[in-house]
Amino acid sequence: MKRVWTIAIVALISINISQAGKLTKKNLQKHVGFLASEELQGRFPHSEGSQKARDYITKSLMDSGITDIYIQQGKPIRPLPRHGAFPTFPANNIIAKYPATTATDKCIVYSAHYDHGHKNPKKFFPGANDNASGVAALLELGRQLVVNKIQTNANIYLTFPDLEELYINGSPSMVKHLLDSECKEIILNVNLDIVGGAFFAGMEGHLLELSSGLTADHYQFIDSADKHGLNIHSSNIYLIEPLGNLVPRSDYSSFRASGVPFIFYTAGTPWYYHTQYDSIDKVDFDFLQNVVFRIYSLAKNYSVHAPSLTNFSYNNDQTLNLAKDASNFAEILQIYIDNREQNHLTDRQVKRFSKYIKKFKDPEFKATKLKLHKSVIDLIISVKSSGKYFSKSSTGTK
Ligand SMILES: [Zn+2]
Repeated sequence: MKRVWTIAIVALISINISQAGKLTKKNLQKHVGFLASEELQGRFPHSEGSQKARDYITKSLMDSGITDIYIQQGKPIRPLPRHGAFPTFPANNIIAKYPATTATDKCIVYSAHYDHGHKNPKKFFPGANDNASGVAALLELGRQLVVNKIQTNANIYLTFPDLEELYINGSPSMVKHLLDSECKEIILNVNLDIVGGAFFAGMEGHLLELSSGLTADHYQFIDSADKHGLNIHSSNIYLIEPLGNLVPRSDYSSFRASGVPFIFYTAGTPWYYHTQYDSIDKVDFDFLQNVVFRIYSLAKNYSVHAPSLTNFSYNNDQTLNLAKDASNFAEILQIYIDNREQNHLTDRQVKRFSKYIKKFKDPEFKATKLKLHKSVIDLIISVKSSGKYFSKSSTGTK
């Protein structure tokens, strides 16, 4: 009898979990569906579409039961290279707070930029992966925090910076504002940008976890957080910053500039990145759902370990493990050439990438940043250039 009950309870719990999963996926589809719709015309900063995106994000957070939400207006701090001038409009950054259960000055700040940039005003760039996917993930994270009544030992901020596409001009003032007025200490920034699709064929379900400044205390709760079926590739951020940290790839840089340790989650830049083909059909919602569960378990896991953790100040002494990064990157390159047909690789390209793989896996190989960057740039350019095959057929990797 007891056993029957146990089975019944287990069955009920698993029904609940799968229903929660279904709801998460449905919500994510709704969010990306609206944000990447033609009605918003690409969410270009300071446009009508941008205002509509802001209204939608604010309303969704409120519908989830988050009440502390406001727009922080900030001044751009970087000139636009082609014009040599600063953007003439302010950044409208959205800030929402899910308070800690106990009184604390500590914060965890999640961020996902909601703007998108289209190069040609006559063409519609939906920006489904970049970055409606990240925004949708944070909206769903907010709902889950409230629904599950998560008890946290840090205030959790869900932030949506503007002007990321205009040389990361929204988050600098936002981070300064958070540190001046909201948080004595931001223990971690978790930044999401392009988290809905595969970098290239074969990378479905793979997520890059790039970080900097993390301490042993950070790893206590990050390493033991649930992976939710994701294939996670971890490395220090330098791997995707070949031009150094003055040319960053997303809003995490504004946190780093203020001495805040961060994790940057991304699936990488697929061929349709910054084109009119970045549409909702490229978003893998099962994958995006697992990303939500991952970032949710980070917050939850922190609270479990919090009482014994104290040191979250930016760790400048992190030693890079170049040899390990090289052999890990070789695995990604291997996936690329294993799917050579779907990735439209020529024999010459396969040969070139095979050479990197052989070198990076050789225990005698002396890995350097320069050698790694060369292969990373090679891969990014190769993936981007395969777009000419995909855009003709208008299909592509999901
Ligand atoms: Zn982006």
